Parts: sequence; C-alpha cells; structure tokens
Amino acid sequence: MSGTEQPSATRDLVSIKNLSKSFPLTKGFLEQLHFQGGRLVRKRESVKAINGVNLDVKRGEALCVVGESGCGKSTVARVVMGLLQPTAGSIEYDGQRIDNLPPDRLLPVRRKMQMIFQNPYASLNPRMTVQQTLEEPMRFHNPGIGNGELRDKVRTVMDSVGVDPSWTERFPHEFSGGQRQRISIARALMVDPEFIVADEPISALDVSIQAQVLNLMMDAMEQRSLTYLFITHDLSVVEHFGNRVAVMYLGALCELAETRTLFESPRHPYTRALISAIPKLTRERPSHIKLTGEVPTPINLPSGCFFHNRCVYANDRCKVEKPPLLQTDNGSQVACHGIEEGRID
Ligand code: SF4
Repeated sequence: MSGTEQPSATRDLVSIKNLSKSFPLTKGFLEQLHFQGGRLVRKRESVKAINGVNLDVKRGEALCVVGESGCGKSTVARVVMGLLQPTAGSIEYDGQRIDNLPPDRLLPVRRKMQMIFQNPYASLNPRMTVQQTLEEPMRFHNPGIGNGELRDKVRTVMDSVGVDPSWTERFPHEFSGGQRQRISIARALMVDPEFIVADEPISALDVSIQAQVLNLMMDAMEQRSLTYLFITHDLSVVEHFGNRVAVMYLGALCELAETRTLFESPRHPYTRALISAIPKLTRERPSHIKLTGEVPTPINLPSGCFFHNRCVYANDRCKVEKPPLLQTDNGSQVACHGIEEGRID
C-alpha cells in the first residue's frame, strides 16, 4: 500500500470524480444548421445533465442527493450504477475505477451494488411471482446455488422486509404500493449488497406508508452495515434519513453538508430557498424565500454560477466565473462567490 492510500475500512466506498454526462439531442441534419457570422454552421446540441460533479460516499453513511426535478440527480444515480456511461470523469468503487471495466470484470463489483427504483409498479415484472423475482438476482450472481438454499433465503429476506413469506407465489398486482416497494427492497437485499442506490424510493407511495418504507431502509442499513446513495427531490425526507446531504442545481453541486448542519445553517442561497419552502410544523424555519427568474435550460447553460439569474446576491463575478465548492467555517462545502467574499453569512 502506498503512503497515501487509505485502508479499505476507512476509505470512501464510492468516489465520483469530475463527472459530466451529456445527452445529444437527436435532430435532423437540416435542423442542426444555423447562421453564425453570416455563415451556415452545423450545431449539435446536447442536454448537459451533469456538469463536473465531485462527490465521495463514505462507507456506512446515507448520502442524500437533493434538487428539483431535472437537476441531474437521477442521472448521477444511473452513472454510478453503470446504467449510463459518463461523458467525462470517473467512478471508483472501493478504490477501483469501475466506469471503464469490461462486463466480466464489473460483475463481481455489481453484486455489491444494488438499485431501488422509484416506481414499484414499473420495476417489478408483472408476470413473475415474488419467488421468481427474488430468485433472479441470486441465480444471476450465484449460478451454483441450490433450490433449497434459495427458497430459505427468499423466505428470510421477505420476513426481514415485513412481507409474509407464505406469499411467495403471488404476483405483484396482488400487493399494495408499499408492499411492492418492500419486495423491491427485498430483491436488492437478496445478494447481500454493501451499497444501495435508491432513486426516489418513496415518492410514488402514499404519504401514510412513506415513513414505514424509510424506517425499513434505515433498519436494513443498521442490520446489514449498508451504505446508501439516496436520491430525492424532497428535503423534508432527507432531514430524517441521511447523514450528509448534497444539493444539486442544473447538474452541479451547490452545497454538501452534514444533515444537521444543512438544516440548522444552510449557506447557499439555493439551499436556503429550498429549506424555507418546507412546510413548518414544530420548528422555526426561515420565512419563505420565493425564487424568481426562469430555471435555465440544461441545453444552454448560463455562464458563471448557474444560479445567478435567480439569486438576489449575484454580482458581476457571479455572471462570468463558476464558483468552486469550498469548505466553510461550519464544515459544509459551498459553491458560492458571495459566501467566499463574505457578502453572505
Ligand atoms: Fe448567488 Fe453568486 Fe453565490 Fe451564485 S455565486 S449563489 S449568483 S452569490
């Protein structure tokens, strides 16, 4: 081990480095032609979903990524899971770069990483029984497993997620939304993963059962020493779930902080606006900050700070210079010139 290398028990489990992901817009040849300076030029446009994200997930933590719809958080989840290839940057898992691995070398790593999707109605195959659904990942990653061992494992995991193990021969349509998401979680747990990416896992569920599913995920985290990358648009969920929170805006990180620090003293103007919009029940929150200005399109990203056209603190520097993520005095990292210059508390 080199002098700078961390031992595996303490090093970050997942490292996202300088990650960018663009999606080319498929337009016909003629639609790509534009006049520029009196000349006809061909312009290929793309949606810039992720723009230079650096983020480490520590072993044993639940790191939440929050932001409005379209901010790129689900794209981050898919690139980390290898469902999309990055346009630039890299993903490391336990010190090993994985975004460029051939499928046969990726397979042992993929077994340790599982994903829970937003919609349990779409993510479960309607023609497969619960038994078949839960067996599938186990048979894929462990082809030599015996039928008896598999049956026992399915029953144990079903029991652990609160679904009656005697219902193994039922189909997804026979379950409620909350039960289906429990089955989705069971499917992820079948291969004993160490890292789970959960993409909006409760947003398709009734409010009354969201807390139950979150509690189930927290129990699984504790019992199985799991690490989560938890994607959500709902900051109020994050307050009760994650250890740290990363706030994204237009494919870039604007703040990264311990959960408590973020809620007690949000620094970035966008984070403050998001937190002020959470309905107040028991705790005092800053009065509602109403954001004005259009959300820019990720096809034509603004220059400088992506938030400048909606920020009341924007100055000339903000319009031309992209702010880096810098450590602040309360331990959070914030990408904001106003904070660096002392214009914002
Ligand atoms: Fe506002 Fe400037 Fe900070 Fe961006 S960098 S959030 S525009 S003050």
